[in-house]
Amino acid sequence: MLAVLESLRRRAVAEGLPVYLVGGPVRDALLHVPVKDLDFVLEGAAPALAGELANELGGFLTVHPRFGTATVEVQGDRVDIVTARKEAYPFPGSLPEVSPSSLEADLARRDFSINAMALPLSVDEPLVIDFHGGVRDLEDQTIRTLHPGSFTDDPTRMLRAVRYQQRLGFELAESTAAELKGALAGGHVSAVTGDRWRQELQRIFEEDRAAGMLLQAIDLGVLPAIHPALSDGQHLMRLAEESGVASEPANHLAALAASLSPADGDSASRRLNLPGPWARVVRDTIAVRGILAEITPSPAGHPVQPSTVCRLLNGMDLHVITAMTRFWPDPQVVGQLEKYLAEWMQITPELTGGDLLAMGVPRGPGLGEALRELAAAKQDGLAATVEAERDLVKQIISRGS
Ligand code: ATP
Repeated sequence: MLAVLESLRRRAVAEGLPVYLVGGPVRDALLHVPVKDLDFVLEGAAPALAGELANELGGFLTVHPRFGTATVEVQGDRVDIVTARKEAYPFPGSLPEVSPSSLEADLARRDFSINAMALPLSVDEPLVIDFHGGVRDLEDQTIRTLHPGSFTDDPTRMLRAVRYQQRLGFELAESTAAELKGALAGGHVSAVTGDRWRQELQRIFEEDRAAGMLLQAIDLGVLPAIHPALSDGQHLMRLAEESGVASEPANHLAALAASLSPADGDSASRRLNLPGPWARVVRDTIAVRGILAEITPSPAGHPVQPSTVCRLLNGMDLHVITAMTRFWPDPQVVGQLEKYLAEWMQITPELTGGDLLAMGVPRGPGLGEALRELAAAKQDGLAATVEAERDLVKQIISRGS
């Protein structure tokens, strides 16, 4: 990324190129936190400049002509260079219509003041360009929209506001909180496609404080406005309390899904247009919750056989089972799930299908059943050695066919 920055700086100084570092990297540099990605804006055709850079640095170029944006990938790092543009929203929640414009207009289309600052590369000792009071808001630790219609134009900014607020430990400006409430009450959330909401949710799932962000999105009424069933934060609360939980998307999705009915799970998945693996997390979370009573020792202390646990959990998404060990409130349930993951599900017979055929088990469905019976016996500690497995197979043969 530094090579791109250096090359752009050289060109900017030599040719007076109106190119700027913008958005997140300027914010993070001012906050003295590590900068993740570099984003540049050019007042002019970005794809052409990006093409020259890619040539010079031996990088890979991707161009999106419709938006005048380009990405240069150099040794695994991606740098976005975009044509300064202004946006118009034909109707609330729609995708904007964009046209080339000035840096000022480009900054004015952004979500929050702290994300709407720029640094010119053509100057040796650049000053931050800050039309919207971003520096002041960084000092005051405030998330502030640039204009009152911001959340109506693009309701996904509601989730973005929560994300930055929690990530940085900032507060929403009073006016911004009021605008957010107004846009919620105006019903604008429903105008946004599931894909766009899901993309913002995905950004949240990747954050260290994802659980806190989702809880706040519930409290503010944003998630319930996306789908009314997304309103229960009890499981997220437990995730938020746990320190050092790897930000694994399935944890948070499962925590959101764990209190849904199957019908709500299906309709929320459809609302967010969840891709197959995510929809499966939702489905399996609800399914596992439904069998928890059967895998937990009864209050009278009757143990549940490991083979029963294996039979019921077999085929369920392992991400879901792992996630549930992190947030399910009953330690007995968590204990059973942990044993399933760490021990029981790994137990398989030493004898193979081939061995069983050689011993005289006929080919056909009976073979699979015999293998499953063998596995179950082993999981329950009833066939500890190969000899014991062979004895059991002999019993099955003499009993069965
Ligand atoms: P970071 O979280 O560090 O800001 P990010 O990947 O979330 O990174 P992006 O979503 O890539 O940030 O957005 C980059 C910049 O584009 C933001 O700083 C903001 O200025 C602008 N931006 C992104 N999404 C929107 C939006 N929905 N409305 C207005 N501006 C946006």
